[in-house]
Amino acid sequence: MADRPYIFHDLTIALCSTCMKRIEAKVIEQDGRVYLTKRCPTHGYQKVLISTDADYWRLSRQTLKPGQMPLKFNTPIQYGCPYDCGLCPDHEQHSCLTLLEITDACNLNCPVCYSESGTHRAGQHRSMEQIKFMLDRIVENEGEPDVVQISGGEPTIHPQFWDILDEAKARPIKHLMLNTNGLKIAAEPDFAKRLAAYQPGFEVYLQFDSLNPAALKDLRGEDLLATRLKALEQLNKYNISTTLVVVLKKGLNDNEIGQIIDFALQQPCVRGVTFQPVQQAGRLEHFDPATDRLTLGEVRQQILTQSPIFGPNDIIPVPCHPDCLAMAYALKIDGKTIPLSGLIDPKVLLHGEGNTIVYERSAEMRGELFKLFSTAVSPESSEKNLAQLLCCLPQICVPGGMSYNNIFRVLIMKFMDAYDLDVRSVKKTCVHIAHPDGRIIPFDPYNLFYRDDKAQMLQQLRGDGRSLPVLGGAGL
Ligand code: SF4
Ligand code: SF4
Ligand SMILES: [Zn+2]
Repeated sequence: MADRPYIFHDLTIALCSTCMKRIEAKVIEQDGRVYLTKRCPTHGYQKVLISTDADYWRLSRQTLKPGQMPLKFNTPIQYGCPYDCGLCPDHEQHSCLTLLEITDACNLNCPVCYSESGTHRAGQHRSMEQIKFMLDRIVENEGEPDVVQISGGEPTIHPQFWDILDEAKARPIKHLMLNTNGLKIAAEPDFAKRLAAYQPGFEVYLQFDSLNPAALKDLRGEDLLATRLKALEQLNKYNISTTLVVVLKKGLNDNEIGQIIDFALQQPCVRGVTFQPVQQAGRLEHFDPATDRLTLGEVRQQILTQSPIFGPNDIIPVPCHPDCLAMAYALKIDGKTIPLSGLIDPKVLLHGEGNTIVYERSAEMRGELFKLFSTAVSPESSEKNLAQLLCCLPQICVPGGMSYNNIFRVLIMKFMDAYDLDVRSVKKTCVHIAHPDGRIIPFDPYNLFYRDDKAQMLQQLRGDGRSLPVLGGAGL
């Protein structure tokens, strides 16, 4: 009797990437990699790579903690996941981060844009009334939202941009982020100065994909390096907390990961780098999931290979959505970078036992922390910010004297598309988008089903309104 050439882990529900119907899927491990296999009765068999690192994938599957519920849910369970967003009562995690898209217009036309924004949508801004309505829905769901990200399109070109920031600031949002391509910040000297007034609890999420002009042209349609550097100069000038956001495309800029981390560490205002592998969404054409997809495990491996700062214990699954989020925290102290997340006892991470950072393992860390304890105490607000940025972890002590300026965070944020969406996993997503009608929709289904141009398709998939069957088979 022959063995199967793989290990069968799970049975789940996925999507046919052609007709988007819910189909049965198997999760299998083969030659150190993990795949989703599925068969649509109409469109046949598909085998999709979901991890290049089976060991890390298994670790992420073990990183489980009870989901945290929002204060309210917004839609009934009717058609089956992911056609009921949301949030429907079957969703397993509140919004750790909610995006608020204030415009569809943009001053760039990036080939990788997931929201299909651009200059062709000039003037397509959401009204102030609409934006206030959406902000109120976010607050209604979350009480005190952890992170709200003002996004678009390019939010800074909204004619009432400053009023929108004021409206957001007037609500009990713990951390406000501005998702921007940086063009305005680079072009208008007073722009960063005005942004600085929104601190603390404010951060710029700056598009920063590459230090190589050719890669920038491929991803963004233009060589934006000089613009990005100019924007950073301004953000450094006013020490505005900034995260560099790197969209990664396999074979294009994934060899720059270590270089970008080094560059980020040299920028005083930069608190971290977020790596986002491209997924099949929006305008992205000619994307072959077999060759162009970078899995989370692969990005993690590349960080380990290219950056001497982090070891395997430092880049760990984020417990609220471990399939799609991995993080590494470090402290920047006196020009040195000390990895932090590997020092957190895994038991603390998983079960919330104890309330401390296990820093005894590192004499250097202990020394630095003692030094911090004895230096001037920073304002309470910045310590609070640090605790909040670690919101996905159980509460840990923030040593007195350490502020958000000392934190450096590397995050891998993987989004699912029609190829690799797994209903088990999508129920745990914690990055959500506010829909103009007041729903709060997980980011991954939002791009697949809930943008305006997808309404008809969703209607068809929902059929006659009865709960939908799962079709097909999962095997060879
Ligand atoms: S993704 Fe979440 S909100 Fe959407 S249908 Fe599934 S469980 Fe409900
Ligand atoms: S990716 Fe961002 S900057 Fe580029 S077109 Fe889309 S919204 Fe504009
Ligand atoms: Zn199909």
